[in-house]
Amino acid sequence: MAYIEPAPIKDKENPFESMMSRFDIAAKCLGLDDEVYNVLKSPVKQVIVNLPITMDDGSVQVFEGYRVIHSNILGPSKGGIRYDMDVHLDEVKALAAWMTWKCAVVDIPYGGAKGGIICNPRNMSPGEIERLTRAYTGALVEIFGPDRDIPAPDMGTGPREMAWLMDEYSRAQGMTVNAVVTGKPLVLGGSLGRTEATGRGVMITALAAMEKLKINPYHAKVAVQGFGNVGSWAATLLEERGASVVAVSDISGAYYNDSGIDINKAIEYRNANNGSLEGFKGAEKIAGDDLLTLDLDVLVPAAKEDVITVHNADQVKAKLIVEGANGPTSAKADALLNDKGIMAVPDILANAGGVTVSYFEWVQNRLGYKWTADRVSRRSDRIMKDAFNNVFKTSQEYNVSLRIAAYIVAIDKVAKTYKFRGRF
Ligand code: NAD
Repeated sequence: MAYIEPAPIKDKENPFESMMSRFDIAAKCLGLDDEVYNVLKSPVKQVIVNLPITMDDGSVQVFEGYRVIHSNILGPSKGGIRYDMDVHLDEVKALAAWMTWKCAVVDIPYGGAKGGIICNPRNMSPGEIERLTRAYTGALVEIFGPDRDIPAPDMGTGPREMAWLMDEYSRAQGMTVNAVVTGKPLVLGGSLGRTEATGRGVMITALAAMEKLKINPYHAKVAVQGFGNVGSWAATLLEERGASVVAVSDISGAYYNDSGIDINKAIEYRNANNGSLEGFKGAEKIAGDDLLTLDLDVLVPAAKEDVITVHNADQVKAKLIVEGANGPTSAKADALLNDKGIMAVPDILANAGGVTVSYFEWVQNRLGYKWTADRVSRRSDRIMKDAFNNVFKTSQEYNVSLRIAAYIVAIDKVAKTYKFRGRF
């Protein structure tokens, strides 16, 4: 049967088109010529693999997996692997391009990639997930490599899957190659500071933006959507800097306390409650979506894509949005936020702390030397601050939003590198 691209969900913006509409505006600002435009708009490689896996009951199930390399102009491509039933090629393409721009914004020498497998890891045993991860690695062994394409965790995957991927790749090479993947367990060459890195970058860019907006972080009212890795670390670190986190949410709903939520208590509760905030007593439960339209200084969407859309952007009251998640604001909502004078630190800048420390993991693996947690955070903080300042300066130079400025910085860097490297 011919491959049929799944249709985007009705009323939901197509993630690739959403990314491309920002890319187009930035390309126009830069006066990008047609040759470079055409090179940068399409992924260099898209691979679809079918993976027959023996399930625990002896049956064989065939899973479809993807790996898209959007660009390898700045260096080996880098990007996570997502295990989810909603994975589809257009989404993987959009996320791969996002990785290209993200790495370029923070000036690390990587191109962008992304991968995924259509599966529901929650309904699979560890053995089934391991076989699937090893089969996927085996099918892509020619694509992956520390100097070619470096995977990492994304939704539905973590250090466990990265350890299997590293092991399977290493077996194929006949030697241990730990730099082929980042987000590994510490004992296999993972980096100190990686767990909190994305939330930490959110905190650093939020503070830098607050300074520009003259918002005193001390007692600034903050709400965080999503209380997983990124959201709970961003909330913890912003609270540590004096902010009052008045609302947090997860899939179970939102929790509001006007005097500020005790984030450590919320984390302790979540950890003891199977990862959920359901029943948390330190705040009043409100509808999940209501968190987005609270009267706030700073809103941190750190859950999923497409949560600030044309349907609710005009009701957002925060002065500043700092995008911990990938793609939380739809392209069509950008204009509404701009009209309201709301500053948005875009995903490709705000959540780039994660890939920055992944890069440090790769550097440490190749050096064969481990950095201290303090060295990791000092270096990543500096990269995030420099990137914010560069994007802010560009936004003033071109008189555009921080989002378009971030795309301008990224596209300009990749386009210049492409010109120097030459072509066929
Ligand atoms: P995670 O799985 O650890 O946490 C996700 C959280 O979002 C959970 O608390 C979940 O309950 C919550 N959530 C899901 N749907 C929700 C909804 N409709 N409303 C409110 N909460 C909801 O994931 P994560 O690693 O924290 O990633 C979150 C986002 O950040 C994703 O968009 C991811 O792509 C992006 N991101 C993550 C990293 C990283 O290093 N982990 C790096 C860059 C970007």
